[in-house]
Amino acid sequence: MALLASGGSIDVKDRAFNFSPGPAALPTKVLAEARDELLDFRGTGVSVMEMSHRSREFMDMAEAAEADLRTLLNMPREYRVLFLQGGATMQFSAVPLNLLGGKTKADYVHTGHWSAKAIKEARNFCAVHVAASGEASGFNHIPPLSEWRVREDAAYLHICGNETIGGVQFHDYPDLGISLAADLSSDFLSRPLDVRRFGLIYAGAQKNFGPAGLTLVIVREDLLGQAAPTTPTPVNYEVQLGADSMSNTPPTFAWYMAGLVFKWLLRQGGLEAMAACNEAKATRLYEAIDNSNFYHSSVALADRSLMNIPFTLSEPRLDGAFLEGAEARGLLNLKGHRSVGGMRASLYNAVPKEAVVALVEYMAEFERKRA
Ligand SMILES: *Cc1c(COP(=O)(O)O)cnc(C)c1O
Repeated sequence: MALLASGGSIDVKDRAFNFSPGPAALPTKVLAEARDELLDFRGTGVSVMEMSHRSREFMDMAEAAEADLRTLLNMPREYRVLFLQGGATMQFSAVPLNLLGGKTKADYVHTGHWSAKAIKEARNFCAVHVAASGEASGFNHIPPLSEWRVREDAAYLHICGNETIGGVQFHDYPDLGISLAADLSSDFLSRPLDVRRFGLIYAGAQKNFGPAGLTLVIVREDLLGQAAPTTPTPVNYEVQLGADSMSNTPPTFAWYMAGLVFKWLLRQGGLEAMAACNEAKATRLYEAIDNSNFYHSSVALADRSLMNIPFTLSEPRLDGAFLEGAEARGLLNLKGHRSVGGMRASLYNAVPKEAVVALVEYMAEFERKRA
């Protein structure tokens, strides 16, 4: 595997193809930009990691990052953006703390690993009702809306938009007249998104738009101001908004990197262009899986994720050989999550088409040569 030489020009061919589920691939161009200004951030003589978050230079960068994000999503003014820490996992608690507003009930849809985690944490704060669950069929689909039982007096309805481990994804979002709160950690900015469908969106950066350490929260204004009094300050949305997400030291480097990714996304043509590219990549891999008798996907066709594609080999004893051969070709991080086994290819924005072409070629060759 050819690794990046220090200095010199960088081509996509110089780097491994990284199918990591997260922390995941970042655009090579973005990494090169960060490298180029690592020692001297925009003429300040220090790196962006070494300066006050309240300095003019950092504040300018932070404002531009939010403006670019708003442009990408065509975000209505009544939605506010927070740049927080703690990961999506911290939001599992922050959501009920901020949104219950004195109510005692919240409804959750259970579609796999991450929605289960959200449900478990929410139970510390309120009476959770599982409005629908994919458990009976091994979480291989999104339960159809006709099966959902949502309580009218629930403070909000929570979904996980893309189950990173199971590989099921919402391709449309329900409108049930109740505030929808969504964990979009693993498909945020992978396609256009109508923010108006949601009361609240959160997403950890390390899947699709930055390094670990930053979590974005987008919240509709009218949901603010009702946080439980015990809400820790760093995750109190209203307090953080009043402080421009700087009630304490924010994750400055991750914020900066996300800002570079937002600019990169705009240069690619925005989220519509990303969606077209992501769909082409996923289609190519699903076709390779479906057209073979050796590879298998157990996810229902209509709910298949375009971001995370789990698949199995018909002979699991060959898993190790498959992964070794892949690694030898610079196709990295294809091992499935330990809870499901098999393989998983994560095809986030920064994974180029060439990576999928190389993977599909390798898969065909492995199938031919096996045994
Ligand atoms: C990765 C992931 C999480 C957890 O993110 P952390 O940053 O580790 O807290 C939660 N939800 C989804 C959908 C994820 O993909």
